[in-house]
Amino acid sequence: MFLSLPFLALEELGATPEPAAAFMVRLVSVGSLPPAMLGFLQEGVRREMGAAVRMGGNLPLPGACPEGQSQYPGAPFLAALAAARPPGDEVILGVTGVDLTAPGLNFVFGLADPRSRAAVISLARLYPEFYGQPRDPGRFKARAVTEAVHELGHLWGLDHCIDPTCVMSFSNSLADADRKGPGFCQPCREKLGK
Ligand SMILES: [Zn+2]
Ligand SMILES: [Zn+2]
Repeated sequence: MFLSLPFLALEELGATPEPAAAFMVRLVSVGSLPPAMLGFLQEGVRREMGAAVRMGGNLPLPGACPEGQSQYPGAPFLAALAAARPPGDEVILGVTGVDLTAPGLNFVFGLADPRSRAAVISLARLYPEFYGQPRDPGRFKARAVTEAVHELGHLWGLDHCIDPTCVMSFSNSLADADRKGPGFCQPCREKLGK
């Protein structure tokens, strides 16, 4: 995924080969989250996408949970993240422990707004414990990395993919999310220029 400019062009620009600007990610927690949560996501996104991932600290939850509900609307998270995105070429990915929803949906694993280059994932429904199943930290981490890569794929211009094993396939359920891995299919990989 590194810049595929001819070496001469790089030399003329006086630049050293770096990850393409479109592959820089600012990773932030939204609301309280154990720091280790961001650590494995940083590693996972680096590994799967070859992206430069920087830690960007913490944002407070954008507002309170609507009264009588246990889920937060996702749109204010995207707006807060977009406002916190540093100027430049980075995209921003927020990670939250609260359950998110969006109009017309019961819940969302994540949301992305390519125009503002901001995305958010919720860890709430990725824990096996959420479904009354035994703890499984390995499975939880794999799900979280997959959801992070999926939303970042949207920020880099990819739509949903019809290949059910591709990370860009749509997850209607956790079973869908578990069926796909964190990897891109070949056509999606080519669209990313990898
Ligand atoms: Zn999607
Ligand atoms: Zn694909």
